[in-house]
Amino acid sequence: MTTAQAHRTAAKLHPRRIALFGGSFDPIHAGHLVVARAADRRFNFDEMHFIPASRPPHKLKQHLAPFPHRFAMVALACSEHPHFVPSLAEAGEDFSGTQLHYSVDTVRYFRHAYHGQGGRIFFIIGADAFLDIPMWKEYETLLGLCDFVIANRPGIRLEALRLVIPPDLHGRPDAEREKEDEVVANGSPVVAQLERTTVYLLENVSSEVSATDIRRKANRGQSIHGLVSGRVEEYILKQGLYR
Ligand code: ATP
Repeated sequence: MTTAQAHRTAAKLHPRRIALFGGSFDPIHAGHLVVARAADRRFNFDEMHFIPASRPPHKLKQHLAPFPHRFAMVALACSEHPHFVPSLAEAGEDFSGTQLHYSVDTVRYFRHAYHGQGGRIFFIIGADAFLDIPMWKEYETLLGLCDFVIANRPGIRLEALRLVIPPDLHGRPDAEREKEDEVVANGSPVVAQLERTTVYLLENVSSEVSATDIRRKANRGQSIHGLVSGRVEEYILKQGLYR
């Protein structure tokens, strides 16, 4: 057996679990990391890719720190975790991060990259962002391309999340898949089973930290200690970001 064949056989027996966590990450903060660590513990990911958005289509009007700064902070935050990977997937060909990217294309890119290795892709998303997903490009296709892990946020009920998914996308009840999903979910509730993918809920991860609050504090010269990782705090101060 060649090495490639051996890899394929191993992948079939143990499909790699790849998580994608996208955001404007302006800056990446403790709330993101709490979600990432909790999801990682629950779902045992082999890799979690943190993908700073180029210009998030839903935040076109908002001023964002330049992509290189947001990427640098993501890289610093990832440096403390062996399988957290800072991703340039939305940096564009010139690495400037100024072109528009859509999640559906980013997921296709990762599916392509991990195709043949039998990898399974999970999209990590906050409940507030999931409620807005019907505004995203080709969201029905996106929901069918990969599994979703929704990090719950205060005041958002499971039923509200379920209502976001069009009824015709729901799969037929299938006892075998339900059993499989239970194993993958490892105690997390299933929001919905679609034809080929599953939407899971990650509970008890809510944190009140938001990037908006951090930018505001930094702008006023207030301390952001504890709201971002130590290295990211140092970076923000050294670069004079958000002043
Ligand atoms: P902003 O305040 O600028 O809108 P943000 O803090 O919401 O930013 P984003 O980078 O836009 O951060 O978020 C990326 C993803 O992380 C989204 O899916 C969002 O729902 C989720 N998220 C952000 N903050 C938290 C938090 N405190 N707890 C759980 N999920 C969060």
